[in-house]
Order: sequence, then structure tokens, then C-alpha cells
Amino acid sequence: MSQARFTSCIPLPLEQKTLVGVIEKAKDWALMHGVGMRDRKNFTKDAIQIAPFVLLPSPFPRTEFNKAVELQQVLNELMHKVAHNDDFLEHTLQNALQVDEFTANLYEIWVKVRKEGIAQPVSLGMLRSDIMLESRCPHTENQCAKHTPYCSWKQVEINSIASGFGHLGPVSREIQSYILRQLGCGDLIKNMPENKALSGLCSGIIEAYDLFGVPGSVALFVVEEVSYNICDQRFHEFEISETRPDIIIYRKTLNEIFEEASLNDKKQLMLDDKVVAVVYYRSGYEPAQYPSQREWDARLRVEQSTAIKCPSIHYQLAGTKKVQQALAAPGALEQFLGAGAISGRVRDIFTGLYSLDFDDSGERAVEMALADAERFVLKPQREGGGNNLYGADIREALLRMRHSRERAAYILMERILPPLVSGYVVRPGGQVPPPLTDLVSELGIFGVIIGSKDKIYSNRQVGHMLRTKLADANEGGVAAGLGALDSPYLLDL
Ligand code: ADP
Ligand code: MG
Repeated sequence: MSQARFTSCIPLPLEQKTLVGVIEKAKDWALMHGVGMRDRKNFTKDAIQIAPFVLLPSPFPRTEFNKAVELQQVLNELMHKVAHNDDFLEHTLQNALQVDEFTANLYEIWVKVRKEGIAQPVSLGMLRSDIMLESRCPHTENQCAKHTPYCSWKQVEINSIASGFGHLGPVSREIQSYILRQLGCGDLIKNMPENKALSGLCSGIIEAYDLFGVPGSVALFVVEEVSYNICDQRFHEFEISETRPDIIIYRKTLNEIFEEASLNDKKQLMLDDKVVAVVYYRSGYEPAQYPSQREWDARLRVEQSTAIKCPSIHYQLAGTKKVQQALAAPGALEQFLGAGAISGRVRDIFTGLYSLDFDDSGERAVEMALADAERFVLKPQREGGGNNLYGADIREALLRMRHSRERAAYILMERILPPLVSGYVVRPGGQVPPPLTDLVSELGIFGVIIGSKDKIYSNRQVGHMLRTKLADANEGGVAAGLGALDSPYLLDL
């Protein structure tokens, strides 16, 4: 079946002169409004360059967008409940822990803090549920009500740590609105949904800070050695500083936390003689961010403290690929969301997810993937992009791991085939004008949830982001230089 296609929001191609002119304006708009990143090749803290962006917003069916927005609170609650179900996490992760050192290290911290007694029962979840439209309708023409170029959206993953683009999401709408106005198409902006992700996410940090309730305490952002995605992070700081001038934010690497932060006798995390109220991780999700035992010790220290963590270690574990796969198993969702319609609504967003454990179903999954590797994505227990395997690499990996326990650290997922749209991607140092190319998009819906095992204080959907990549690229990380910033243009089909 050929891949379905959406029509772009204005007829393309644009006339060459118009295109060159609007790109020049848009690049300046980008630089002057923080649509930027640090340059990986010529790194300097004195400059940012434009982040790659799609010139025009990408079509997304309005009903599907609304459904995704409406489901977010349910997904927040699901993640919260999973994070607080010790047995489920233990059972789900046990095989992966044997072979995946990184997940095992996280798990060990979780076991340790539980044994010592959890100092802070409240967690802050700032989640992002990533979805793609599936354009292959599983129904026949007679059954599917519309049989339009899409059928429905499917979940790619849920991020529970360092869910980025709270700033770059909303600002993508702004830059594309500016571009549409410059092209004389300002009337189309009404189809671009409002996006308050930045203030929404920051409201989570502020609420957690107030819940912590210690005057003069501070917030701590845990950051990488070098933050290429600096605008996205800093705008959170700027937003909090404007809304709540009393909240001072520190930025520290795990290594600096090891050096500078300590626990006092009340298990408060102390930095510069100030109590840390909230810890927000923008790092700590991949092995390279823990180059030595010092970083792991720092992570443990934070987890042992009374600070409200985003995420707590069990929230990070709940965001693993293995948990996502386990939730798709028969009966799993019902355990958390009950046997009613809500579990059904969540089940509908799952595409095929298969364990590769050493049992009958794991064997069947291996057979299935070897027979038709193009139909799947093979995923290790990793975050941050660039770790998954596709096509021929899946076959090679499975043939190698077939008789090794290593395979239990992977999950097999059916590949989603999103509809195409033609568009222009503007890149730093890229060709001007850029070629008209086939693109596909991935939508992320943000959620904030604050609560303990027994009580949820807040649960809301707070905005969205859209990333778009070349149709033939496997992955679309913007910071990795593959994807581009975008925003949805809602279609009434
Ligand atoms: P990570 O934690 O590394 O971000 P993801 O599961 O989000 O891992 O996968 C990374 C990227 O790979 C996604 O952003 C998407 O572009 C692509 N991808 C992942 N799963 C699928 C899938 N089932 N179908 C199609 N593309 C996928
Ligand atoms: Mg992802």
C-alpha cells in the first residue's frame, strides 16, 4: 500500500523569490526569539544558531489532535500509578535488569531509597506522550467511517524524564504564524492550536516548589556538561523567573552536584547553604551522562533527599520501553485503569508491542521480526534518540542475540507509517532555498502530574510540540540534527 499523503496548508512549491525572501526574514525571527541551538561543530557560549524548522505548519486531523489532548490526563494518571506499583515495576523489569547495566543502576537506587525510607513521597511528573498518525487503516473501506488519508494515531513512547520542547514547541507556532503572515496567509493561523506548553510545564515546577513550602529554598536543574538545546532549557528559567521572582534556579551537572551538594540531618538537599525544593532533570537519562561513579553517587544523593524530583527514580523506571511493552499485554492496563472504557481508549493507541524474553511469545516475536524486519522497530532500554534499530539492522541484531539473554533488554514494536506532506526544512548552514521534500511528523503532548502514592494533587494537559523529519529518515531528533521544529495545522476532514 502506498503511503497516504496530506496536502500542505498552502499550495507548493512557492515561487523562488518569495521563498528566499521569507526564509531570510524567518531566520532572523528565529535568532531573535530563541528558536535556536548551540552549534555542535563550532561550539561557543557566545552565540546560538537557528534550530532547524519547517517553513509551514504540518497538517494534522483536528479530531485526532483533540483526542490526544483529551487522553493526556489519563496517561498521566497511568504513569503515576505504574511508577508507584513496586511489584509491577519489579516484575516487568526483572529480565532486562540482568543484562542492562544502566537500567539496573537506576533500579538499584530505587531499591536503596525504598529500603532507607522515602524522604519525599511527592513526585513531579512532566511527561510527554509522543504519537504518530498511522496511515495504514486496519479496517476495510466498509468499516472505517471516513477512510481518509489517516486512520488514527498511535503512541511512539511516553517520556518521563527531560521531556524537552516546552519552549521550542510553542515558539514554533509563533515563527510559522509570522511566516504565514509574511506570505499573506495570516487567515490560516486560526487553524494552529494555542500552545502554552512553557507556562504549563513551569507551573508544575512552581506548584511543586510551593508544595515543598520552605521559604528561601531553590530549584535545581540537572544539566549536561554542554547543553546544545540551551534555548529550550533557559526559557524555562526565564519563565519561572518572571512568574516567580522569588524562586532562584541553579543549573548543575551531576558531577557538580557530587562536588557541591550535600544532605543535612533532615535529609534536605543543600546547595550553597540553601535548601533545594525541586530538582528538574534535563540530563541523567542515558549512560553517557554517568561517566563515573561520582554521577551515580550524585543521583543517589538527590533521590535520598526531601527535594521533589522531576522525575523521581521510579517515574524514570516507569518511562522505560519495557514498561510500555508490558502495559500493552492483555490485562495490564485494566490493573491500573479498571476494566471500563478508559482502558479501551488507551489500548487503542498502542501499536503492536512484543517482549523478546526467553519464552514462547518472545520466540514468536523473534520469528516475526526475522520474517519481515521492515514492519518493526527494535528498541533497547534507552532514551534520547539514535538507539533504535530498523530494517536490516533488526535482522542482524536478532540473529546475533537470538540465543543470548541480551535480547531481553529489547522490545519489538510495530513500525508506524505516518502520512506524508511536502514541505521545506530550513537548517543552519543549509541550502537556500531548500528543496521541497516529503516529510512526516511526530506530535508530543505534555502533561503535568503531582502526587504521592495515595494522593494526586494536580493532573493536567499543558500543551504540545511537533517534530518533523524527512520521510525516509528513521529517527527525527531535532538536537541530533535530524528533525525539525514544526507545529500542527488542524484539518477538518
Ligand atoms: P527515544 O527514547 O530514543 O526517543 P523513541 O521510542 O521515541 O526513542 O524512538 C525514537 C524515534 O524513532 C521516534 O522519535 C520516531 O521518529 C522513531 N520511532 C520510534 N518508534 C517508532 C515506531 N513504532 N514507528 C515509527 N517510528 C518510530
Ligand atoms: Mg522519543
